[in-house]
Amino acid sequence: MTNTPWPHFSESELRCHCGCGRQDMDADFLLKLEALRMAYGKPMPVSSGYRCPAHNAATSTTGENGPHTTGQAIDILVAGEDAYRLVGLAIQYGFTGIGFSQKGPPEKRFIHLDTLTRADGYPRPTVWTY
Ligand SMILES: [Zn+2]
Repeated sequence: MTNTPWPHFSESELRCHCGCGRQDMDADFLLKLEALRMAYGKPMPVSSGYRCPAHNAATSTTGENGPHTTGQAIDILVAGEDAYRLVGLAIQYGFTGIGFSQKGPPEKRFIHLDTLTRADGYPRPTVWTY
């Protein structure tokens, strides 16, 4: 727990994983994420939060300008019944981009959530699979 308006998420789990140390998550996004977390009522382990452009290009087909580089996207480790419930709530709470990675070992499955819009240059609302 941290002393922020989003106490269920830590700086370290939101930070870019490449070692650059950047954590430029959008404050409005984190407030929305915290509201979702409260409604969901269970831990939401983060596998990827903010990504710097270089790290995004190295890990995603979206290159240097993917959703995670905007600070308005997060990947949550979740599977099965919990994933079903989380996605339903995420739609209610206004998340507009939902990506499903739900194959392989359950502990590695995740759901991508973002709040991007057409005005940001992304096709939204939408869902996709990895
Ligand atoms: Zn980085």
